Amino acid sequence: MAAVKDLPEKSSILIDSREIQYFIRKSKRAKHLLLHIDCNAALEVVVPFRRKITLKQIEKFLLEKRCWILRNLQKAEEIARKASRRRNFLLFLGREVPIEIIESKRKRATAIPSTGKLIVKIPIGRKELVAKAIQRFYKKHASKIITHLAEKKAREMNVSFSYISVRSQKTLWGSCSPRKVLSFNWRLIAAPQVVVEYIIVHELAHLKHRNHSKAFWRTVQKYCPEYKKHERWLRKNGDLIKARTDNWL
Ligand SMILES: [Zn+2]
Repeated sequence: MAAVKDLPEKSSILIDSREIQYFIRKSKRAKHLLLHIDCNAALEVVVPFRRKITLKQIEKFLLEKRCWILRNLQKAEEIARKASRRRNFLLFLGREVPIEIIESKRKRATAIPSTGKLIVKIPIGRKELVAKAIQRFYKKHASKIITHLAEKKAREMNVSFSYISVRSQKTLWGSCSPRKVLSFNWRLIAAPQVVVEYIIVHELAHLKHRNHSKAFWRTVQKYCPEYKKHERWLRKNGDLIKARTDNWL
């Protein structure tokens, strides 16, 4: 039987008369075959490194999961289309900010906010650096704004935290550790400010209640009366936000 390392990186399969390409990723951590669709609507099969799995088994697995694959690919493709139509705009605190790219003689790419737009300066002929500059811009401002809002809300709610970390979390918007470290996903900064504030209030409320009990939600409601609306907004728009911020990378 062929070893996992002999599997190709890419293959395709016919599902309901549609040829679907997929990538194969070997993982040391995975225990079973897993499916994943990224923000560019690419399908990936995660294969446990330690088990002997053949391409035939992968194909069988894909056919078993065909309903899930077709449904979720369609969703992801729609989101990727929406995101790519807006490539000349930066989504920042719910606002669409036009991006202007200027080539200059400098060596580094930088993103500088200017009235009503974001100017991205890149070295001549280095368009691929646009994404990097935008990502840096997002992270820097996400960190500043989220920290500022969290400090303000913490005073209002009379809670204290150790520190705030704004980083890349693939699946979560925010979290609160037992050591009172609040972590936020920098991509959150693309969402409207009221939504960002809701996530902040949610994590701060975990400093009082380490669960999602009724008492926890009462605290959230007290400091963010429309939290249900914001929660719904995130559920509906979360994937689009990720696509709008990740497709640059
Ligand atoms: Zn929570």
